[in-house]
Amino acid sequence: MLILLRPDSTPADRARVVRLVESFGVACQPIGSGPRGAVLVLEAEGRLDPARFAALPAVEDIIHLSRPYRMVAREWRPEPTVVRLAGGLTIGGPEVLVIAGPCSVESEAQILTAARSVRRAGAAALRAGAFKPRTSPYAFQGLGASALKLLSLAREETGLLIVTEAMDESGLEQVAAVADIVQIGARNMQNFTLLKAAGRSGKPVLLKRGPAASLTDLLLSAEYVLTEGNPNVILCERGIRGCDGAARSLFDLNAIPAVKSLSHLPIIADPSHGTGRRAMVSPMARAALGAGADGLLIEVHPNPDEALSDGAQSLYPEQFELLMEELRGIALAIGRRIASPIAAAGAVV
Ligand code: PEP
Ligand code: MN
Repeated sequence: MLILLRPDSTPADRARVVRLVESFGVACQPIGSGPRGAVLVLEAEGRLDPARFAALPAVEDIIHLSRPYRMVAREWRPEPTVVRLAGGLTIGGPEVLVIAGPCSVESEAQILTAARSVRRAGAAALRAGAFKPRTSPYAFQGLGASALKLLSLAREETGLLIVTEAMDESGLEQVAAVADIVQIGARNMQNFTLLKAAGRSGKPVLLKRGPAASLTDLLLSAEYVLTEGNPNVILCERGIRGCDGAARSLFDLNAIPAVKSLSHLPIIADPSHGTGRRAMVSPMARAALGAGADGLLIEVHPNPDEALSDGAQSLYPEQFELLMEELRGIALAIGRRIASPIAAAGAVV
């Protein structure tokens, strides 16, 4: 951290800054002798709160020389993290994982029909919520534990990996017992006790970006999971709050290459929640793959018109089939491939 002093600051002001830094047991180096000096803080950031120094009357600005997160940073680990999933699938390597399914599990018939159709189209993982974080308390909240059983059934029949959300610490264990990947939703991105518990769960974690979170916030949240001993974090761009009504969210495509340069963790894109409009999902899915996403999360419903949640952004099965074909072409053009679904447990091979 470089603490820049105001042009009218005095040597006494500089000495005061130095004393304050040193009072925390951190070494620093004053720079320059005339007015407008600076103080270079030599130890890694994290131990000092920059806001405390920015608030001193003689301080003009603080320049950050290192990032506030460590374990998730590329500087800490230059090679990309490849998360190993059940059945030999991976995310973060050359394979692109397509995760698809309805927003919520609604019934046995609905989830099995959805699972069969997304598998037929080539998705390798099924994503559907048993516990749903809804903006309104009057909206469908999910079927709960019985939906987890239906997801297990769908995996048994299709071989699709299961991705589903844990909404709170108390429900994490039962979700982790079924899920191949535990989703932490956008609104829970900064639920730090849940993040720490997910870090101890032993399951790969899909961490969605909060609707108002900066990339630094997202990476600091991922850091919580890693510091608990779980390196298997998959980040997800799912749109942030925008100022235009054309889409439900502002899908931040820049986040994909930006995160790749800042972190070694894989990042996937969710253009369904990122746009909230069915017509925009396939264009943004294609764009996200082109931008370097390691996977895609696409909401697909056997009958979106009657979906209990997020029907307006859910693709019809035939639209998803077409999208998968397009994605295979794009993947080929950029030297990647779409991960194939694995065989079902009971399947004859
Ligand atoms: C979802 O994945 O269905 C969901 C609620 O997403 P988000 O947390 O991104 O809003
Ligand atoms: Mn949804």
